[in-house]
Amino acid sequence: MEKILNYINGVLCEPRSYQYLNNVNPARGEVYSLVPDSDLGDVKQAAGSAKKAFPAWSGMPVEQRLAILLRIADLIDRDLDKLALAESVDNGKPVQLARTLDIPRASANIRFFATAAMHTSTEAHLTGEEAVNYTARTPIGVVACISPWNLPLYLFTWKIAPALAAGCTVVAKPSELTPMTAYLLAQLCIEAGLPEGVLNIVHGLGAKAGQAIIEHADIVAISFTGGTATGKKIAATAAPQFKKLSLELGGKNPNIIFADADFEQAVSTSIRSSFSNQGEICLCGSRIFVERSIYDRFLEAFVEQTNRLVVGNPLKDGTHLGALVSEAHLQKVLSYIELAKKEGGMIVTGGTRIQLEGECASGYFLGPTVITGLPQQCRTNQEEIFGPVVTVMPFDTEEEAIKAANATDYGLSATIWTENLKKAHRVSAQVKSGIIWVNCWLYRDLRTPFGGMKQSGVGREGGWEALKFFTDTKNICIRL
Ligand code: NAD
Repeated sequence: MEKILNYINGVLCEPRSYQYLNNVNPARGEVYSLVPDSDLGDVKQAAGSAKKAFPAWSGMPVEQRLAILLRIADLIDRDLDKLALAESVDNGKPVQLARTLDIPRASANIRFFATAAMHTSTEAHLTGEEAVNYTARTPIGVVACISPWNLPLYLFTWKIAPALAAGCTVVAKPSELTPMTAYLLAQLCIEAGLPEGVLNIVHGLGAKAGQAIIEHADIVAISFTGGTATGKKIAATAAPQFKKLSLELGGKNPNIIFADADFEQAVSTSIRSSFSNQGEICLCGSRIFVERSIYDRFLEAFVEQTNRLVVGNPLKDGTHLGALVSEAHLQKVLSYIELAKKEGGMIVTGGTRIQLEGECASGYFLGPTVITGLPQQCRTNQEEIFGPVVTVMPFDTEEEAIKAANATDYGLSATIWTENLKKAHRVSAQVKSGIIWVNCWLYRDLRTPFGGMKQSGVGREGGWEALKFFTDTKNICIRL
């Protein structure tokens, strides 16, 4: 069985303990490769090699550094089909989605930050004629990048690209559930000539390898994307060591549809924002609020389009929803559907595991699920489910919609549908989310700040925000 390897000090290597974890293909429900169960020893080695590589990498002329990163991006594009297939097999997502979204975005992330770093400049402040202040921003040092399983290579590169472009060296850990494309990326880094120790990829469990990374004294900043509960643990570990933190956490995003919306667009985009990637995107709109005058019409059209979605073998063209990432995650999502029933919800469509035939007979498939009739404060409407499950609720006034949208501890993203620009502006201002989409969803410009309010995170990624995060800021005042 194929063994995934760590990437430490420029070489692919086994974990020091030679212990491995099973890596499951979720569409087939079977183990298909092994992932290192790395421990403190591996992390020490990775952090040591990152520390050793830092002076040369941070001191390298920026053009040379970026040329290497651009070569990695080109190699990702060259291997698009191979990487897309690997992502689909590892995660369960439709290969078509990996080919058009995940993998192109991975190379785009690297290109974006590599070229952005060519254009950075810093501020200067003249204090009358008496002094000049200038701000120096220097690479912060060895950093940790820890990413989740839902968009594996996409989010892994979203973190390592700004870190490397800014001149930091990295100890990174992808999710133990989806390690394969980070392993393939390590091979491309070697091919591209990335100097040894600049990027180190340690595979393994969050509580073991992940915890060892964030605790390591030589790691000065942590960029983390994952669940809010994990984010709390990381913050608790990092705070006494005063490590710099960027936390991109969970969401329970509202999708507000006013009666004056472009109806067809609102329905078809809401299908995407509800069920893309099996609903396993932190930005999916899981609570849909519809103005009462169009509620029945919306629900009918939405359910009708939901029923047309094909749940199937992720490797086949025409599949809209593949498998959920793991048996445990499928059981978690199913438990929320049971909870919704207990809380008085009506399952309008979906709600059950789907049994496919043939090679995917043991896969973790779930029908896209629409639930109505639930109150705001119930757990189904408060807790992140992170699967193909949405609740739909009517509202009467703008104020009521805003109040409902804000009625959770999360504040990652929100979608607002209206043809009235003033209303869009007014509502956007009052919804407490870090990202608002008006009449669209997941329409991305990588220059924009990305991140959540409340329990959805701390700090922002994207554009300058990410590059600045990986630097230390120093003001130098010269008295003239
Ligand atoms: P998770 O928190 O379980 O794991 C994320 C990563 O952290 C994994 O690599 C895991 O191994 C590691 N980890 C776990 N415990 C750790 C510890 N103690 N120390 C260091 N690392 C540790 O999240 P997940 O289940 O992989 O991903 C799903 C979650 O991610 C959802 O809540 C989703 O909303 C969130 N997410 C957020 C964003 C965003 O941009 N805000 C994007 C994607 C996913």
